Amino acid sequence: SIRPPASKQTATLLVAVKCRPLTGAERQRSRHIIQVLDDKNVVVLDPDLSKDYLDLIQNRTKERRYSFDHVYAPGCTNADVYKNISSTIAGVIQGLNATVFAYGSTGSGKTYTMVGTRKDPGLMVLSLHTIFDLIKKDESSDTFEVSCSYLEVYNEVIYDLLEKSSGHLELREDPVHGIIVAGLRSIKVQSADRILELLNLGNSRRKTESTEANVTSSRSHAVLEITVKRKQKNQYGAQILRGKLALVDLAGSERASETNSNGQKFRDGANINRSLLALANCINALGKQHKKGLAYVPYRNSKLTRILKDGLSGNSQTVMVATISPADDQYHHTINTLKYADRAK
Ligand code: ADP
Ligand code: MG
Repeated sequence: SIRPPASKQTATLLVAVKCRPLTGAERQRSRHIIQVLDDKNVVVLDPDLSKDYLDLIQNRTKERRYSFDHVYAPGCTNADVYKNISSTIAGVIQGLNATVFAYGSTGSGKTYTMVGTRKDPGLMVLSLHTIFDLIKKDESSDTFEVSCSYLEVYNEVIYDLLEKSSGHLELREDPVHGIIVAGLRSIKVQSADRILELLNLGNSRRKTESTEANVTSSRSHAVLEITVKRKQKNQYGAQILRGKLALVDLAGSERASETNSNGQKFRDGANINRSLLALANCINALGKQHKKGLAYVPYRNSKLTRILKDGLSGNSQTVMVATISPADDQYHHTINTLKYADRAK
């Protein structure tokens, strides 16, 4: 039988903001407009610094100061971010669901945060190491099975990143497993290294990697899903706990904010990222749920939110890492991202 664990019953949402350093090229032409005050507060300076200086003196900068569960300054590593979410990840081997996603405009550091580099491994990599370490250290007589899938949602079409040339995949409602991606490869893995190999292979197949055009690369959502099946035996028989962890590198958030920038709704479907908008609405509802109790979470409106449903509801924990650039020319994107994250918390 499959039974939810008793420990946690409501969805929780943690909102963090991470500012990347100026890149080499930016250092020549851009000013740094982000001030991280402490581990929870951040101020965005107006690109017109002289005006902002007056504002600061007159203490009228309230509208550009934001607070979050965690704020990470440009010097922070992915491991610094990970420290504050490791307990969420650990829950997955106890049968809890979790979703971690990076939200931000193109170039703000989403992929860096989720995938990372060899020197600064990202949240996907660090999470995998935790899961396998915990399984290795587990002293119960339980047995574990870990499997993973990796997919991409691109223009509302689902592709399998673990297949060499994936066709379009469809969503189905399964009476036992809920919403499933029909035909998606799920690979049993014994070690973090094996998943990382698959991850690298999958990344090389992403639409982002195959083109230099930001226009297309900013539209791809990548979802790495790790399922941990824990078999417990006791005097009454066996029971299975199933924990799912979804790690999501989202499309650029400018696709969502463009919609509101001039107060008009887009009629041109090509410009809207339906999945991103739907996720925004779900996160909003989750934020309300967190604060005031039950709210309807509109999962059904896109491919991405249907795929993520289990990880956004029930007893699941959601972590949103909003990524921002410190550069003055990204001011509007930064403000949009922070406002968005602020509404979610
Ligand atoms: P996105 O996925 O949001 O479009 P990227 O993750 O590709 O953005 O980051 C944009 C650029 O910034 C890349 O060149 C990346 O290496 C760099 N970058 C992002 N975060 C950091 C960081 N913390 N330290 C150093 N470079 C970073
Ligand atoms: Mg990216």
